[in-house]
Amino acid sequence: MISASGMHNILLIGPPGSGKTMLMKRITSILPMLSNEEALEVTKIYSITNKLKNNQELMKKRPFRSPHHTISQAGLIGGGSIPKPGEVSLSHRGVLYLDEFPEFHRHVLEVLRQPLEEKEITISRSKAVYTYPSQFILAAAMNPCPCGYLGSDSQSNSCSCSAHKINQYRSKISGPLLDRIDLHVEVLQMDYNIITSSEKQMSSAEMIERVEAAQKIQRKRYQHTDIHFNGETYGSLIYEHCKLDSNAKELLQVSFEALGLSARAYDRIIKTARTIADLDEQTHIKSEHIAEAIQYRTLDRRFHTV
Ligand SMILES: [Zn+2]
Repeated sequence: MISASGMHNILLIGPPGSGKTMLMKRITSILPMLSNEEALEVTKIYSITNKLKNNQELMKKRPFRSPHHTISQAGLIGGGSIPKPGEVSLSHRGVLYLDEFPEFHRHVLEVLRQPLEEKEITISRSKAVYTYPSQFILAAAMNPCPCGYLGSDSQSNSCSCSAHKINQYRSKISGPLLDRIDLHVEVLQMDYNIITSSEKQMSSAEMIERVEAAQKIQRKRYQHTDIHFNGETYGSLIYEHCKLDSNAKELLQVSFEALGLSARAYDRIIKTARTIADLDEQTHIKSEHIAEAIQYRTLDRRFHTV
């Protein structure tokens, strides 16, 4: 819900079978429907790639794309002698889901940086330069270690990876790419009692209502800027629009020292906390919003302890 509200890129870390893919597929169901303008943009991309289904006139749902980790660079960002849009553009205004994130070829992952930063992708050919839009939520998933069971309390599946192997596995995702992902969330193996619990969970309809309310606040906040959402804020916009109350400031400072968080985590935490505060309909970011946002920086913390 936080990712959908603020258009934050998200990385889920959890063992096989913990429901990462199922969870990610649900993101598009809690995002508002495409506006007419957005629907036109998306339909154009699907039309030139011959991907419109049964002469469909207009795409109304947000796209969800999940290419396999063996995808080529051209498949991901677009290519060919007359370049066709790739997965980053087919995900425009929707979600690009990359499961088994560290298994993608490193050079393929590195080319994601331009679309993530510029919200479009440029492909040069000798006769022309092609630009396709590519504004999407990057949703990625990975195991906590090569065998997948690090941190698992299951008797039958315990982790057999060395610290060296774990570090090697995680370092396949470079710092600059990780910099563009605000949320790192640990997903634990689902407990049978939780799945079958009769306790009322929030429905998709309730979630979409909260997401829409939080997005409305953001549209108003950024109306005089070139962005719309907290996930897109950068530089001075962060400090101008994401104000912390004094307790929140103090907590952030103490946490940085205590947890040894990296400098890059600082802005990410504030941006995420801004979205949590918007979901809470609060003008200022409070300490509880900061505390929650810090929980979503798993990789910053883990790299120091493994
Ligand atoms: Zn392992």
